[in-house]
Amino acid sequence: MEMNRPPVNLLALTALEVEELVQELGWPRYRSQQILKWLYQHRVFDIEAMTNLSKADRTCLQQVVFLQKDEVISQEIAGDGTGKYVWRLGDGLAVETVLIPEERRRTLCISSQVGCTLDCGFCLTAEMGIKRNLRAHEIVGQVLNVQAKLPEGDHITSMVFMGMGEPLMNFDAVADAIQRLTNMEWGLGFSPRRITVSTAGWIPRFPDVRRLGVNLAISLNGTTNAQREHLMPAVTKRYSLEALLSACRAYLEDSERPLTFEYVLLAGVNDSVEDANRLGSLLRGIRCKINLIPFNEFPGNPFRRPSPDVIDAFQQIVRKRGLDVFLRKSRGDDVLGACGQLGRSASEVQEAAVAHLKRSLPIYADS
Ligand code: SF4
Repeated sequence: MEMNRPPVNLLALTALEVEELVQELGWPRYRSQQILKWLYQHRVFDIEAMTNLSKADRTCLQQVVFLQKDEVISQEIAGDGTGKYVWRLGDGLAVETVLIPEERRRTLCISSQVGCTLDCGFCLTAEMGIKRNLRAHEIVGQVLNVQAKLPEGDHITSMVFMGMGEPLMNFDAVADAIQRLTNMEWGLGFSPRRITVSTAGWIPRFPDVRRLGVNLAISLNGTTNAQREHLMPAVTKRYSLEALLSACRAYLEDSERPLTFEYVLLAGVNDSVEDANRLGSLLRGIRCKINLIPFNEFPGNPFRRPSPDVIDAFQQIVRKRGLDVFLRKSRGDDVLGACGQLGRSASEVQEAAVAHLKRSLPIYADS
């Protein structure tokens, strides 16, 4: 079969594009589901191994597609079992994924961008700036590849889009990835209830998240516009606290699932008794739970983690206001795999990739 275009990475195609390819090849429609099942259910990354396709069809498919997975270039396991994986993407950039084991649960913290479009001051990823959006297959690849590294019988049980990047600013790729992760017929078959998308507050996409049926978490971190503007300037200048809370209320009107608010506690910045009381008042009447995340310090960042007494007092005040408030344990901070700490090893790889590019492209070569 001759096609007037170079072969494409099969993993990069959406389900619809695989269907179109099958049509172009003149094959029966069900063939697209067979191919997708090999990729996402049998997790076979070799066209020769797709044995319910005839030998002739496999040869034909190999002429128009290839299979290219991203490779893990470093894997670190923290003292508490948290695993941090750095992937090299096809263009040499790198991205990170963190696996958090807790009793029988295995939560995968997925990245959606290389770097981030936003500029939260307490976040290591923000320091990288944005390199580019991840594509759907690069997002799903994080799940498939980490799963393949787990011992037999061990499975990823839930996923959170809380790695590098603001997922709602790369919504189309995130939605496509979620389709591949949740489709029961040919996809990985995860329940959408086991997937959480976390946002700094990119409110125009809230209705789209609701349609996906996954959980929505909001990184709040401040109880006044001034505080949020100080900590998360880009998103707050665009969408005020009032606009954010009203989008949350609208979201809940049509959603059975409660919201989660994430609140990074920063010493002397947002951890006072007044802050705790204000947080209680702001979220009163909103169906939600609150996760308090004591800041994970990293070199070069001015913010500090509050003392255990301050953290405890803050939680008690919010709880007395009738809200469900939990303290998130810090995981993996000895390998910079904890919340807000992703980016350093990826930056190092990024620098190496840019250096490599400079060496290989004459336009960049030092004179
Ligand atoms: S906290 Fe999230 S949204 Fe904010 S800069 Fe970091 S990765 Fe981006």
